[in-house]
Amino acid sequence: MPRRDRPAGGIDLHTHSSVSDGTQEPAELVAEAALSGLAGIALTDHDSTAGWDAARDAARAHGIVLLPGLELSTREQFASVHVLGYLVDPDDAALVAETARIREGRRTRAEAIVDAIAHDYALTWDDVLEQATEGATIGRPHIADALVARGHVPTRSDAFAGILHWRSGYARPHYAPDPLTGVRLIRAAGGVPVLAHPGTRGDGDVIAPKRLRQLVDAGLFGLEIDHPENHERNKRALRELADRFGLAVTGSSDYHGTGKANRLGEYLTSPEVVERILAEATGTEPVLPG
Ligand code: AMP
Ligand code: FE
Ligand code: FE
Ligand code: ZN
Repeated sequence: MPRRDRPAGGIDLHTHSSVSDGTQEPAELVAEAALSGLAGIALTDHDSTAGWDAARDAARAHGIVLLPGLELSTREQFASVHVLGYLVDPDDAALVAETARIREGRRTRAEAIVDAIAHDYALTWDDVLEQATEGATIGRPHIADALVARGHVPTRSDAFAGILHWRSGYARPHYAPDPLTGVRLIRAAGGVPVLAHPGTRGDGDVIAPKRLRQLVDAGLFGLEIDHPENHERNKRALRELADRFGLAVTGSSDYHGTGKANRLGEYLTSPEVVERILAEATGTEPVLPG
């Protein structure tokens, strides 16, 4: 990858657009980042790279850094584990096939969740489709928005706290590969893998060192420790693991527009770490102004 100017400020390395479950189109999201004075963002929609072209055009127009990326859904036993992949080759055959399979699994799972909810609440699959952009990666947030539109709950977050919570019995898992496969897929596609929000599960509940070792051996680059939903105690444990395994530490907001309380740019990744990601990636080009 040709070397260019180092990004000047911190970068928010985890954001969502309407290509998955964010509420803004990619160009709007990039425009907001520029307006709020950020040096740049990574666009990391769930299991999709469909927003990249629009985000790139907007980043060039606004003169900010853009790292095209994605947030790959994986699963370890019953726990959903997300792996961020920066600067992957969007045409890599294995990654294209696997993300298509995950998106399809998410769609059939969402239909099953809607069927289950429809036994108790007025809700149809068309209600959900109305909340999603054509071709978007479907998730529980779109079902939440449909529940809001129907007046069953006041906000997306209320839907997650109630009807869509695991203990309510309507939610179910979707197909996803395991995290080791995810890390390998991202590296094989020339990308740089970072374990997303690894401290959110429970206070004192972080990945086992043995499992982390396997992910590191497979090419894991870093841990997203500075994330609004990681528990403080877990952050301390994760920093020790990062030191021990020589992993980079990233920071990001996981912004979803108005769909979640996370504020754009509330955590950032240092220019030095961004620089290392740019140096390791071979899959696609970032937008670097100047
Ligand atoms: P899914 O991937 O379909 O299981 O849905 C999980 C997605 O919902 C993640 O991207 C979260 O960011 C989002 N999410 C989880 N909890 C909430 C919440 N309380 N409010 C809004 N969005 C949420
Ligand atoms: Fe999301
Ligand atoms: Fe995530
Ligand atoms: Zn995310």
